Amino acid sequence: MNTQFDAIIIGAGPAGTATAIALARQGRSVAIIERSEFPRRKVCGEFTSATNVDLLDRLGVGAQFRNQAGPEVRRVALFASGHPVEAPMPKGQGATFGRALGRDILDELLLDAAIAAGVSVFQPWRATGLVRGKERSVVAIESGAAKGQLDAPVIVAAHGSWEPGKLSTNLAKINRPHDFLGFKAHFLGGRLASDLMPLIAFPGGYGGMVWADHDRLSLSFCMRRDALALARQASPNISAAEATYNHILRSCPGVAEALHGAELAGPWLAAGPIRPGIRAAYDNDVFRVGNIAGESHPIIAEGIAMALQSGWILAAQLERHEHWGISARTAAGKSYGAAWRNQFEMRIQLAAILSSVAASSSGAKLMQAVIGRFPASLSFGAALSGKTKRVPALG
Ligand SMILES: Cc1cc2nc3c(=O)[nH]c(=O)nc-3n(C[C@H](O)[C@H](O)[C@H](O)COP(=O)(O)OP(=O)(O)OC[C@H]3O[C@@H](n4cnc5c(N)ncnc54)[C@H](O)[C@@H]3O)c2cc1C
Repeated sequence: MNTQFDAIIIGAGPAGTATAIALARQGRSVAIIERSEFPRRKVCGEFTSATNVDLLDRLGVGAQFRNQAGPEVRRVALFASGHPVEAPMPKGQGATFGRALGRDILDELLLDAAIAAGVSVFQPWRATGLVRGKERSVVAIESGAAKGQLDAPVIVAAHGSWEPGKLSTNLAKINRPHDFLGFKAHFLGGRLASDLMPLIAFPGGYGGMVWADHDRLSLSFCMRRDALALARQASPNISAAEATYNHILRSCPGVAEALHGAELAGPWLAAGPIRPGIRAAYDNDVFRVGNIAGESHPIIAEGIAMALQSGWILAAQLERHEHWGISARTAAGKSYGAAWRNQFEMRIQLAAILSSVAASSSGAKLMQAVIGRFPASLSFGAALSGKTKRVPALG
């Protein structure tokens, strides 16, 4: 088994696989480490905005995405305390619209494309340690009782931000009343219009709904920990996800109507707390992509876009250096950090503001009143959140 690579990527979500595919296409030897077996479902709304369709083409999965994803999302909506409010979704490049594809499918398509590009996949293996050296760093990996080591000059953390772990790049555990927990389920048979993606606002949280592949309706939401404790008092003896779901049905008539007669398909999933914010894109000689580099509140449904694009942008910065010695890595880290902020900073800030309004006790009513009066603000907000922003270095 080869253990020496040019780049080692930890995590095969969209950030890790996008980075791996792009670096392998540059002729680099790349390893990706993924602790879960695929396919696996994930807490995620599963919507991918239109600006990423060209990028998915470049990553080699565009055709499969078009074949399998749910219908084009041509309208956005607000489902809050009153009548639903709707507005057009702004178009992406090439007049396309975003669509939703289950993460059980998308992540596996991307990993298959990485394998086709020559990436060595270690799955199910977990990265458990990272020892940095001036020329090369060593990543310790484990799978059951088996242990191993891989080494490379370039290390990329793409392991997401919600799970604790032993790596120096894992975030410390938190447990605060205002943390948001994430939940998700698929339904079959709902009444939501096929081209509509509502933003859901309810006391204590926010969420979204969209048609994905195989007639699956994807419902995902985030709920503040303190509000969840109250909701669980109202619905004792059921899971946190179901208690929040009941709370949403009571608070949002649009959701109750859209899911009338729908059947749960598969178990509820839970994750978190989520960790919105901007972190270092390159620190301690480790590059970070996707959620671990920075994360927006999922109220704007841009996490997959940010994951794919950050991997692509990092690979473009690394490509400028033939040899990946420490000075090249430092320079690539600096230019990657600047490009990252330019591409994503504004949407993260917008999402923070929107989520704090939506989840406040009177936020859903306030949004209902303001957006009800100015529905175009929904389209404007979608554009501001990055849904029409060009992906750099796409050629
Ligand atoms: C409720 C909710 C709804 C959302 N809805 C949307 C939406 O509609 N659209 C959208 O674009 N975004 C959405 N998001 C955000 C999106 O899910 C994330 O931003 C995205 O998954 C981040 O991708 P990533 O590749 O950085 O990390 P992840 O997708 O989390 O992938 C990380 C991978 O690393 C692996 N891993 C972790 N630790 C290790 C280790 N030590 N060793 C090996 N492997 C490891 C994990 O198993 C995982 O496969 C939503 C989020 C939430 C909470």
